[in-house]
Amino acid sequence: MKKHNFSAGPCILPQSVMQKASEAVINFNNLDLSLIEISHRSKDFVDVMENARSLALEHLGLQNKGYQALFLQGGASTQFLMAAYNLLENKAAYLNTGTWSSKAIKEAKLFGEIIEVASSKNANFNYIPKEYVIPSDADYFHCTSNNTIFGTQMKEFPEVNMPLVCDMSSDIFSRVLDFSKFDLIYAGAQKNMGPAGTTLVVVKEDILGKISRTIPSMLDYTVHIGKDSMFNTPPVFAVYVSMLTLEWLKEKGGVAAAEKLNNEKASLLYTEIDRNSLFEGFVANKEDRSNMNATFNLTSESHKDAFDSLWKNAGINGLEGHRSVGGYRASMYNALPIESVQVLVDVMKELERKG
Ligand code: PMP
Repeated sequence: MKKHNFSAGPCILPQSVMQKASEAVINFNNLDLSLIEISHRSKDFVDVMENARSLALEHLGLQNKGYQALFLQGGASTQFLMAAYNLLENKAAYLNTGTWSSKAIKEAKLFGEIIEVASSKNANFNYIPKEYVIPSDADYFHCTSNNTIFGTQMKEFPEVNMPLVCDMSSDIFSRVLDFSKFDLIYAGAQKNMGPAGTTLVVVKEDILGKISRTIPSMLDYTVHIGKDSMFNTPPVFAVYVSMLTLEWLKEKGGVAAAEKLNNEKASLLYTEIDRNSLFEGFVANKEDRSNMNATFNLTSESHKDAFDSLWKNAGINGLEGHRSVGGYRASMYNALPIESVQVLVDVMKELERKG
């Protein structure tokens, strides 16, 4: 029996994907060779890359709309600077909703003026700011759709007259959005897509090539597009497992089906957090709550030892909150079955009975 895995990332992946991935490590496509010991230029691997790129666009509804999907390295953290390197000529506007937005802002400041249009830092990022003005002469607007650490999620995105850039690391492929509103989307694989080691970048080609600085090849989106996401040796295993997960998502009914299940899981847990007087949610406004990462606390620390031993004995993994928030965080990515959420809810009810 595997654990009920609420880890924030790297995190749970579909078990069928894990099985196929482990088989491919031994013998890929009946080649009598491992996936990780063949050339990335071989047809077998080029097909993997092309399939992964096309599935990513398909799931986002962005095929044949002028977008390119790339599987790059360096994590979402490299995208903090790569986005600015490629798009920032004079100034850019950023919404600061947490640790990852703050890091994106820090990197972008190396390239130009950054206008922080709003920040929820003064409330330890426990809400999403809504009232803000984006300067119309900014080169782009950057936001973070889901704040993995604090458990907030943007439900609405502003209408802008400039490229819309979004870090979707922790909620990509989890809900239906009009993705064509976005011009640059990036996401580390290690939540809803695959193992750590690759980052999905989806970029609308017509926003590129408009800045005056020279961009080093590895940091230039245009270079990666020109080489079909194979400018250098790609992280073959991470791309392959991402492809398998995207195929799994398609079999399950795609992003719409994932959203339905994610809503059910989140509603099951948040209903218990609100009902059970031993618990309180961390996020100030209910409409800002993340469907991916639910953050909550005990109303009295005196129950901590009892709660911790209950959930650990129930086979739950990864419920500790991030050190900057404390308390608990239940990450409910696409591959987490609703049965695992039910086990957590049952543990919360048991604590109440024993309380
Ligand atoms: N953005 C968000 C929203 C994240 O959750 C994370 C990682 N948890 C990052 C960026 C950084 O990603 P990486 O570790 O892949 O650089």
